[in-house]
Amino acid sequence: MEKHPENNEEYKGLKVNKGIAQPEIVSPYLRNKRVQRRELSVNDYVEGIVKGNVSMLSRAVTLVESINPDHQSIAQEVLEKCLPYSGKSVRIGISGVPGAGKSTSIDSFGMHVLEKGGKLAVLAIDPSSERSKGSILGDKTRMEALSAHPRSFIRPSPSAGSLGGVARKTRESIILCEAAGYDKVFVETVGVGQSETAVHSMVDFFLLIQLAGTGDELQGIKRGIMEMADAIVINKADGDNIDKANLAATQFRNALHLFPAPESGWTPRVLTYSGFYNLGVKEIWDMVDEYMDFVKDNGYFDHHRNQQSKYWMYESIDETLKSSFYNNSYIKEILTQYEDSVLQGNVTSFVAAKKLLDTYFNEIKK
Ligand code: GDP
Repeated sequence: MEKHPENNEEYKGLKVNKGIAQPEIVSPYLRNKRVQRRELSVNDYVEGIVKGNVSMLSRAVTLVESINPDHQSIAQEVLEKCLPYSGKSVRIGISGVPGAGKSTSIDSFGMHVLEKGGKLAVLAIDPSSERSKGSILGDKTRMEALSAHPRSFIRPSPSAGSLGGVARKTRESIILCEAAGYDKVFVETVGVGQSETAVHSMVDFFLLIQLAGTGDELQGIKRGIMEMADAIVINKADGDNIDKANLAATQFRNALHLFPAPESGWTPRVLTYSGFYNLGVKEIWDMVDEYMDFVKDNGYFDHHRNQQSKYWMYESIDETLKSSFYNNSYIKEILTQYEDSVLQGNVTSFVAAKKLLDTYFNEIKK
């Protein structure tokens, strides 16, 4: 068969015409638009956020999450200017193992708190999971009612990275959300360990979701996580599961007695509910309101927030030093050589670390 029949003049079949080059964009309108998108000033962001403009808020959160140093420096300026407008929300940490019903519950809790008005932001800290790869859609389908609510703002966890880094970004996003008028903030985390400490360091109330029915409810929950909880709520207390949930509640209550009294002076409570069937949700939020009144009266609320600010100052120093070290171009070049030497036993870890750090400090002096 002929190799290129279309070149034959007799050919009647489909032809492939030679293409033309992509013309340059000539519309001045489009050009301007592009430039504008890239060059929002710090004030543009701040003004937009303070007016409650959701797309501006989203873009600012994206800046906070960016690893690009230029974005980070704009983000820091935006944060600084938003700070005076922040701090006025109630921040709630919500934790529970996968399957405990966090999304279902946050959907119900969120719809409940929004009934009274105001605006709710839902953020997350999840440095490990697949979900943290930034799929907003994933989170929106997880919280169906809430994501369609005009006064809610749902943002998935910043993408995977060190826990400290991910947590700092979430903490900074809280500031932006508050400046945008969100007076309730939920911070969700997977209840498996260290991320709880990070969440605890940025919220006013820490809610731990548990399940009943495994027979040994208290197993597998780290003592530290239970100690942080201002309330333990047992989900899926519906249908055949009600008795088991009540039994689990008793076991948790007994266990909580063994812990030292929290600094807040509040006695942590244990309640049962069903996020799916919306049972007992009101009682949980009445309790949260009661807690807020309690700690505002006794001064713990402000004390705790101050402590948190101090914690974040040190976290921020740690994070900045670390990233400055690892991003230093000279260190990047020599790091693997040292790593190899340590692996081969040519040099001890401590000597390698010291040499690298000395090199780094000399480099930044230049
Ligand atoms: P997450 O992984 O903690 O976010 O948990 P999900 O909210 O995705 O819930 C896990 C599963 O438990 C889903 O199949 C839910 O439908 C179910 N579930 C959540 N809350 C309840 C509840 O209150 N009662 C019952 N029976 N099932 C629930």
